[in-house]
Amino acid sequence: MQDVVEKVYEQVVARNRGEAEFHQAVREVLESLDPVIAKHPHYADNALLERIVEPERQIMFRVPWVDDAGQVHVNRGFRVEFNSALGPYKGGLRFHPSVNVGIIKFLGFEQIFKNALTNQAIGGGKGGSDFDPHGKSDAEVMRFCQSFMTELSRHIGPNTDVPAGDIGVGGREIGYLFGQYKRLRNSYDAGVLTGKGLAWGGSLARTEATGYGTVLFAQSMLATKGETLEGKKIAVSGAGNVAIYAIEKAQQLGAKPITFSDSSGYVVDEAGVDLDLLKQVKEVERGRVADYVSRRPGARLVTEGRPWDVPVDVALPCATQNELDADSAATLLRNGCAVVAEGANMPCTPEAIAAFQAAGILYAPGKASNAGGVATSALEMEQNAGRTRWDFATAEAKLAGIMVDIHDSCVEAAETYGRPGDYVLGANAAGFTRVADVMIAHGIV
Ligand code: GLU
Repeated sequence: MQDVVEKVYEQVVARNRGEAEFHQAVREVLESLDPVIAKHPHYADNALLERIVEPERQIMFRVPWVDDAGQVHVNRGFRVEFNSALGPYKGGLRFHPSVNVGIIKFLGFEQIFKNALTNQAIGGGKGGSDFDPHGKSDAEVMRFCQSFMTELSRHIGPNTDVPAGDIGVGGREIGYLFGQYKRLRNSYDAGVLTGKGLAWGGSLARTEATGYGTVLFAQSMLATKGETLEGKKIAVSGAGNVAIYAIEKAQQLGAKPITFSDSSGYVVDEAGVDLDLLKQVKEVERGRVADYVSRRPGARLVTEGRPWDVPVDVALPCATQNELDADSAATLLRNGCAVVAEGANMPCTPEAIAAFQAAGILYAPGKASNAGGVATSALEMEQNAGRTRWDFATAEAKLAGIMVDIHDSCVEAAETYGRPGDYVLGANAAGFTRVADVMIAHGIV
C-alpha cells in the first residue's frame, strides 16, 4: 500500500484494538485504493480516508430480557451508523453469539460500499446482538426483540437509519421489532425496517433477493467468457435465506447445486438438492441439515471438512465470514472450480482471495455479488414511501437490472484502474468513488 494509505490502516489497527474482522475489511478496501489515489490524489485530501474508516456514530446498549422460566438474561446490543453520505444508514441486524463490536464494524464498513454499488440512496450501517435465537421459544425471541427495540427505536427512522435482517434475524424477528417500534412511536412508519411481511409493507422478492442476486452475478461473470450456468455443478455453504434462494435461482438457470451446510456439517446430494425438502426442514421446521438427510435417500451428511472439498465448477459461500480459507481455495482450484461468488459477507479469507486471483478464475467479493438483498430493501423503502406494492415480476426484474448494473460497474472500474477482470478492485473502486465524491461535496462533516 502507498504510504498515505498504509498510515490510515495503521491508525485503524491502533484505534480499534482486537477487532480483527474490522481490520481485515478495511485492509481489503484500502489495498484496492492504491491505483485510485494514484490517479486522483484529491481523494486523500482533507482526511477523506481517515473519515471514511471512522463510523459517524456507534451505539452500544444493554438488552435485558426474561426467559420462559422467569430467569433474567442480559445481552449486548449494537448499532454502528457508519456513513450517511448517500442516504439514511442502511444495513441488517445480526443476532448470533459471535457478535461483537468488531464484527458489526466490519459489516457496517462493507455495507457502505455495497450500498453505493446498488446506486440507490442508502448509506451504510449495521447492528445486532450476541443473543442466540436458536433453541429459544417464540415468546422469548419476542421479549428479546421488544427489549432490543426499546433502545434502538430512539436512533432509527425511515430517513435516519433503516435496519433489516442478517444472520439470525428473519421475518419473525422483523415482525416483533416492527410491532414494538410502532407501539413506542405511535406511528406506522413502514419504511423504518425492511424485510417486513407482505401483509404489512414488505416487498415481494425481498426474501429471495440476496441468493438470487448472487447467482445472477455469477451468471454475468460467466457471460464475459461466453459461458452460462447451464449444467454447472455448484457447492453452496449455509442453509439460511441466502443459501436456499441461491440454490433456487441456480436450479432455474439449469445448474446443479449439490451441497449446503450448517454448523453441524455439510450435506452432499449428488442427485441435486431437493429444494422443497430443504425449505420444509429449514424454513418451516427450523430444523438442522441432518433432518434433510434422514428423509432423502442418497444424500449424506459430512461432519468433517467443508463443502469446498466436493469437486464442483462453481462455489457460492453463503454462510458467514472467513468460512473459506487458503486450504479450501487450493482444493477448489485443484478440482477445477472456475467461479466463486460470495453470498455471505467476507466469507473468503484474504489468502483464499489471493489464491483465486493468482489462478485467474472469476471471483466476486460479497459487497458486489450479495448486494441484491440490500438493493431490494431499497426497493421496499421505495414502495413504502409511495404507498404502493409491485408484483413479483416487477420487483425481480428491477433486482436483475441492478445486479447487471453492479457487475458492469465493477468491470468498468477494474478496466479504468488497469486490472481488467479484478472484481475486488472494481467493486471497491466503484463503491468508494461514489461515496467519496459525495463526501467531498458535503464538506468536512
Ligand atoms: N444483511 C443484508 C446485507 O448484508 C441486507 C441488509 C439490508 O437489507 O438492509 O446486505
